[in-house]
Amino acid sequence: MLGFQRRQGAHNFVSAAQHLLHATELDTGLIHFEGRNVNVGAYPISIDVADFELQASGRATRQRTAQIRSRLGDPEVILLGVDRLDYTKGIGNRLRAFGELLDQGRLDPERHVMVQVATPTREGVEQYQDERREIEQIVGEINGRHSRLGFPVIHYLYQSLPLDELIPLYRAGDVMLVTPFRDGMNLVAKEYVAAHVDGDGVLVLSEFTGAADELGEALLVNPHDDHALQDTIVRAVEMHRHERRPRMEAMRQRIESSTVSDWAKSFLDVLIDPS
Ligand code: UDP
Repeated sequence: MLGFQRRQGAHNFVSAAQHLLHATELDTGLIHFEGRNVNVGAYPISIDVADFELQASGRATRQRTAQIRSRLGDPEVILLGVDRLDYTKGIGNRLRAFGELLDQGRLDPERHVMVQVATPTREGVEQYQDERREIEQIVGEINGRHSRLGFPVIHYLYQSLPLDELIPLYRAGDVMLVTPFRDGMNLVAKEYVAAHVDGDGVLVLSEFTGAADELGEALLVNPHDDHALQDTIVRAVEMHRHERRPRMEAMRQRIESSTVSDWAKSFLDVLIDPS
């Protein structure tokens, strides 16, 4: 049995097995290869929603969230990115879009501040070192142009944060930017929604993530399209609470109805009884 995050992924695998290995498709999602039957399906993973909600609504989280906002200078809007520092995550495009909007005056460094957490990953691989250098150069250029003394416009952390710091950060984030070029699922998007027990917040989400299949009320965007990315960021920043709240509410309901235990059960049910 083979599980993929997206139906498209499962479908592509079946096509590849047929064309490259001459496997036969006996039924939808059931292939025969070298004397074995293999089930192929989509099993989108989730998170422990209840645990996130519990942690997000605790007193310690509320206090830390307020402290983070204050440390950032109490800006009107905090934009947030949380990713492994991987070239698939589209961090550079996102930062460039933010910088371009500041250059054009469509965002204001006194009102709009960005936090980008980039988790170290595969540091021994040259391409990842290049990616890191590029991102840090972009951050430096934008901060050089738009920061004021004591108030950087991008707060960049090349660190892996523990959950008890990440959850307050999610809560402090008014706009979450998840803009990978390709991502099987992207749990950060789901974690942001789960952490927003206040029912507020805007998620900008790449259409090339598995999460986009489930979170259709996010502002979906093609991260390769620079203008679309800029316009979507502005739309997210300016979105009225009357639009923000119903979108967040719908996304919260969706993830609450499909938690990591449901995911495990759906996978195990088929393993136990493949028919
Ligand atoms: N994460 C973390 N600390 C950080 C940044 C990320 O623990 O500083 C976790 C985050 O909570 C999430 C995971 O790393 O569960 C990232 O998963 P995702 O599916 O978004 O991306 P991946 O890294 O698997 O490509």
